[in-house]
Amino acid sequence: MTVLDLAIVRVLPAVPRAVVKRLSRRYIAGETLTEACRVVRRLNEAGKLATLDVLGEEVTTREETLALVEAYRDVFETIRREGLDSNVSVKPTGLGLSIDTDLCRENLADLVRCAEERSSFVRIDMEDASTTSDTLEVYRSLLSEGLVSVGVVLQARLRRTLDDVSALVDLHPSVRVCKGIYLERPEIAYQGAQAIRENFVNAVDHLLEAGAYVAIATHDAWVIDRSRELLAKHGKKREEYEFQMLLGVCEELGDQLVREGHRLRVYVPFGRRWHEYSVRRLQENPAMATAITKATARRLLPGRNGRVATR
Ligand SMILES: Cc1cc2nc3c(=O)[nH]c(=O)nc-3n(C[C@H](O)[C@H](O)[C@H](O)COP(=O)(O)OP(=O)(O)OC[C@H]3O[C@@H](n4cnc5c(N)ncnc54)[C@H](O)[C@@H]3O)c2cc1C
Repeated sequence: MTVLDLAIVRVLPAVPRAVVKRLSRRYIAGETLTEACRVVRRLNEAGKLATLDVLGEEVTTREETLALVEAYRDVFETIRREGLDSNVSVKPTGLGLSIDTDLCRENLADLVRCAEERSSFVRIDMEDASTTSDTLEVYRSLLSEGLVSVGVVLQARLRRTLDDVSALVDLHPSVRVCKGIYLERPEIAYQGAQAIRENFVNAVDHLLEAGAYVAIATHDAWVIDRSRELLAKHGKKREEYEFQMLLGVCEELGDQLVREGHRLRVYVPFGRRWHEYSVRRLQENPAMATAITKATARRLLPGRNGRVATR
């Protein structure tokens, strides 16, 4: 990225919502569950699995967390009724992690039971580093209750991740490994791209070695190549792991993984609260800065007919 690109990416949160909406259409499945199901069906027809994420706002009350639980119940019911191959991903703070960890655990236990009744699965997304220990604690406590259709996420960016792997492996966990979207301070997080990649691959290696179910969530061709080698080294069968990608990102690479016979699950976010998620995706897209400049300029500069463009 050039200095200009970086500057534009930093001011993204201030870019008009209409511009963000237009540029991020590829990353969001729509505002409603019906639209999201249409996207999941298309993915399933292309041989891909899905995980549905209900985009939520920051919650401050118990009632708001219960409303999100209800929204996810609706998702499970619709997945079953429509015969879709999808599970769900949930943000622990949406279920109350920063209000009261017991509330979050109860809400999650509710959702996991709902998933188990429908042979489905709940993946607990990982948020910023201030939530890591509590999220892992809640995950452990769900497993100790005997719930199994639940998995967690570890972020290769964090220095603690290999220790977290060691602490989890005896529990036969299901772990999504990703780089980690939240930029954390150098004391707790690797800053260099290659250090993060190496930590990613080491985490996948240890998890595969220990017999954990691993979801390899990345679009980085280097990490995918190393992961392919590790899967071969550990003699893993197709159903013992999966690759994961985000909706609208590196679709050709995803198609290639499917052609090779790997399972690929696509993260499908939907809902009225699309703005924050979209900004995060645009900030990660290397080609986006120029597009944003052009789109914003088109909106703000007078059109050929002298009028100011509005969309
Ligand atoms: C299924 C899934 C679930 C995730 N869950 C979490 C989570 O729970 N917690 C968390 O912190 N993070 C999560 N992430 C995000 C993740 O941590 C990274 O921020 C994100 O995946 C980008 O990292 P990367 O490994 O693809 O590598 P990068 O080096 O960022 O990207 C590799 C290449 O992919 C392409 N690319 C990546 N992003 C985009 C984009 N938006 N638009 C266009 N091209 C792009 C580019 O070509 C780039 O060079 C998840 C990611 C995936 C795929």
